[in-house]
Amino acid sequence: GATVGVLGGGQLGRMLALAGSAMGYRFVALDPAEDGPAAQVGGSITAAYDDRAAARELAERCDVITYEFENVDAGVAAMLMEQSYVPQGSELLYTTQHRLREKRAVEAAGARVAPYAEIRSEDELREATARLGLPAVLKTATGGYDGKGQWVIRSEEEIPAAYAELSRTGADLVLEQFIRFAKELSVIAARSSLGEVRVFPPAENVHVDNILHLSIVPARVAPEVLAEAERLALRIVEGLGAVGLVAVELFLTEDGGLYVNELAPRPHNSGHYTMEACRTSQFEQHVRAVCGLPLGDPSLLSPVVMVNLLGQHVEPAVARLSAPDGEAERLGVAPKLHLYGKAEAKPGRKMGHVNVLAPDADAALAWIQGTGIWQAENDAIR
Ligand code: ATP
Ligand code: MG
Ligand code: MG
Repeated sequence: GATVGVLGGGQLGRMLALAGSAMGYRFVALDPAEDGPAAQVGGSITAAYDDRAAARELAERCDVITYEFENVDAGVAAMLMEQSYVPQGSELLYTTQHRLREKRAVEAAGARVAPYAEIRSEDELREATARLGLPAVLKTATGGYDGKGQWVIRSEEEIPAAYAELSRTGADLVLEQFIRFAKELSVIAARSSLGEVRVFPPAENVHVDNILHLSIVPARVAPEVLAEAERLALRIVEGLGAVGLVAVELFLTEDGGLYVNELAPRPHNSGHYTMEACRTSQFEQHVRAVCGLPLGDPSLLSPVVMVNLLGQHVEPAVARLSAPDGEAERLGVAPKLHLYGKAEAKPGRKMGHVNVLAPDADAALAWIQGTGIWQAENDAIR
């Protein structure tokens, strides 16, 4: 079996290693944390992501290199490509680690994004908000996640503060029109190093405080919307000439319009449902794609709702799952617990998730409602 090196050792690296180990591959994760989620299930190198000597060691120990986050240092990526096999290349990273480049690539692939403008000064911000309308979302072009590096500007008075706060990061800035979406969807497409493409069933995503809370599959939208979302994801993965997984986050408007929010060139939290609910999981698919194997069948085996376990949810969820559960039986649901092996259950930190396999979304949501993970905001989605 070949050895796969992974830049990053969080939960995505852990679940890649778990899936790939079953297929006979060995894994080595490079991560600054010593006993992180991936290091617990495979080999590891403890070093900063931009540590050249550590990257060289990773290249020496591995036959194939991939990554579990998109902010890989360009110099490190170039060095790894010289010394090892990086089937995903560096172009995909270069594109997806910068919102402006990403939006241009999405448009070039024939998909829509929210109207946007590059912002280089407070004057430009003032001018762009006048053109795009309020509310509008100011975002750092690089480095943001879980809504960090964003400011929803609702009135002109907020412009100076929003500009001051985000320009302080030193990152390029982009202003996006605020899309009044009816739903958020995501689609994960895979393209192998041999050029084969497959797409997973779209997920309907619910965020709370900018962090993914639920993914509902099948998404409760018209069949034409599902088909169009899948087509868009395939167009993007092919347009980018990507290898591996590309997650496409979408806004669906009331009139059926789809806008691409952002891309992620890796396994995605909204794809965790695939672990039990699809014939091939996103993690197995990624390993297949980067290792040059034929892609697996992504079709759905069962309706499912994935619910994230943040620090504050772990105790109630584990308690519920450790006792006989007549409610699960009554509803006909099978909740599957995944924990990432993180030591400290800080509030807001992603500690694990539960895939609730069910006869339909309502049954899964009813089970989750009784767990202590349920959020008041959810009452609107049932
Ligand atoms: P992630 O953790 O998904 O990487 P992120 O920090 O990169 O998050 P985005 O995905 O850009 O941030 O935005 C986070 C959330 O904020 C979106 O899922 C959506 O709910 C909301 N949002 C972002 N941009 C817009 C927009 N232009 N219009 C309306 N809502 C938006
Ligand atoms: Mg993002
Ligand atoms: Mg996002």
